[in-house]
Amino acid sequence: MDQEKAHKVKHIRIYELAKQLQISNKELIQRLNQLGVEVKSHMSSIDEDTAILVHEEIGEPTPPPVQEAVKAEDGITVTALSSLLDINRTEIIKSLIQLGIMANVNQRLNYDTLSALSKKYKFEPIQKLSTEERLLAEEYDPPEKLKPRPPVVTIMGHVDHGKTSLLDAVRKTNVIDTEAGGITQHIGAYHVSLKDGDVVFLDTPGHEAFTKMRARGAQVTDIVVLVVAADDGVMPQTVEAVNHAKAAKVPIVVAVNKIDKDNAKPDRIRQQLSDLGLIPEEWGGEVIFADISAKNKIGIENLLENVIIQAEMLELKANPDKLARGTVIEAEMDKSRGPVATVLVQNGTLRLGDNFIAGLHDGKVRAMINDHGESIQEAPPSTPVEILGFSGVAEAGDKFYVVKDEREAKSISESRKAEILEKGRLANSRKSFDLLQMLKEGEIKELNLIIKGDVQGSIEALAESFLRLNTDEVKLNILHRGVGEITENDVMLAAASKAVIIGFNIRPTNQAARLAEREGVEIKLHNIIYEAIEYVRSSMEGMLEPERREVVAGRASVIELFSISRMGTVAGCRVDSGRMLRNSSVRVIRNNRTIFDGKIESLRRFTQDVREILSGQECGIFINGFNDFELGDILESYTFEEIPAKLK
Ligand code: GDP
Repeated sequence: MDQEKAHKVKHIRIYELAKQLQISNKELIQRLNQLGVEVKSHMSSIDEDTAILVHEEIGEPTPPPVQEAVKAEDGITVTALSSLLDINRTEIIKSLIQLGIMANVNQRLNYDTLSALSKKYKFEPIQKLSTEERLLAEEYDPPEKLKPRPPVVTIMGHVDHGKTSLLDAVRKTNVIDTEAGGITQHIGAYHVSLKDGDVVFLDTPGHEAFTKMRARGAQVTDIVVLVVAADDGVMPQTVEAVNHAKAAKVPIVVAVNKIDKDNAKPDRIRQQLSDLGLIPEEWGGEVIFADISAKNKIGIENLLENVIIQAEMLELKANPDKLARGTVIEAEMDKSRGPVATVLVQNGTLRLGDNFIAGLHDGKVRAMINDHGESIQEAPPSTPVEILGFSGVAEAGDKFYVVKDEREAKSISESRKAEILEKGRLANSRKSFDLLQMLKEGEIKELNLIIKGDVQGSIEALAESFLRLNTDEVKLNILHRGVGEITENDVMLAAASKAVIIGFNIRPTNQAARLAEREGVEIKLHNIIYEAIEYVRSSMEGMLEPERREVVAGRASVIELFSISRMGTVAGCRVDSGRMLRNSSVRVIRNNRTIFDGKIESLRRFTQDVREILSGQECGIFINGFNDFELGDILESYTFEEIPAKLK
């Protein structure tokens, strides 16, 4: 028996082996017993070596057993995967390098990496689902349970354009709850009641907090209010804010601020923002603009009404009728009260006494305080509440879940802590994670880029060249471009949007470089435009499926027919051109028509199994599933080669 066949035989059940050998279960069991192998029933299985022995005993060329799909769970090491798949470790490491992952043999592979590898080697990647993940999986909310919920708003804009002043003005515009309106307490978010509905404002303005949350997988903002000072115009951070909101696909309502000033030019703001793609409604676009003076409290109610109109278009809904889930907005250690955190309830209703889990911590809601400093019993969707009863200080962006009971909360937080420890050991390089992730996504692939450079001119030149690479198959998005070093903000945006950062003639700050390392964000530094373009082009090409091209190996004519018991008809052939390859695809051609397309299961020269037969030689060919050869049939042996795709 040759090596190759031996490798393909794995643990196999008796009935499967019997089928392959085309003998009955009973006969196979008898044979095995004669060989001294004890088997009880057709459901028993035997190992590789024994199976090889049986193949040899029975002596007929038999197709190798069909392998059941091999399954590999995330966390498997390269070595373990190599023995599971029966593939050389160096070969797996080479494939990983092609995917941009520098691995050693002890490296554990995560699910994303396994998925990418499974495109090349046939196996099924399995994602380990902990009890926790099953427990916390997003449940389906039946439509009749869904009730409208207030929108959650983040205010963004350039420094000094009036974000803080606007938050202040809004806080005081609590038209319904006028009494308590004045004495709001800082808990990181607050809600305003208006005639037409409520709006929740996050109290940390600016895109840093917004993007940081998003990078941690928490999207809490439904609407961004972009503040632009009418006396100043669109500034770098305005552009950054627009790009951050766009990347998060969050709609923008523009507040044109400081209209009380003599040099205010609200129309110029509309013009500048139109150039960024935010076309005002009154100009036929879709973006709501409201002129305000945060300082003099002009136009605030109108702005809020417009926010509510925008929210209505989004049809925001949640199911108040289940255990709460939300996101931690702020958290700290309070000297007298212990760990506290503000949680935005996003779905379900949170109640006093509920057991919960947030990040690495668990707890029980001992007290809930709203943005007016009042103790409350329950918090429906879109309510920010300060919670007492955490086991430790949570982190902004941590997901918050109410669970059944204390035991469950404890066991999840324990397993999370253990997982963090394990992660420290999982030295799985997340380099190129973005590309892998995108590879997994649907038909149209996307490459998101952030471009930073030393001068505007080269950034524009790069952006233009990159955009020219856009094709129908791979879409290239430039999320943000700007002059200056690569900052932590850029890295956060990249992490949140799975983008690659291109730096031209500049470097990341130390903090940004460290953050990128931690978040697995790819930063590519270039100082030659051509090289940067080549890098992007090859990244895009790497996202395309390779083309499969057929290659004909050889042709043979059928010159004799042999009928072999238990097998069927073997065609005696002479190879006319090229070579016939075992295990290659084959088509049977009669009168210039293909009458069968299958696989060469067995290729023999005299009595020997061989891998290939060259032109001029004679051989016996068995094609599984085809017995109706006729003299003069042409057999064409062919294979496929994969050609890396090129951008069109
Ligand atoms: P932030 O950095 O975006 O939070 O901006 P601030 O809210 O701190 O405002 C910056 C400066 O602009 C402060 O001196 C405010 O008093 C002033 N300011 C804010 N809104 C207005 C406004 O509507 N009109 C005028 N004249 N000044 C304003």
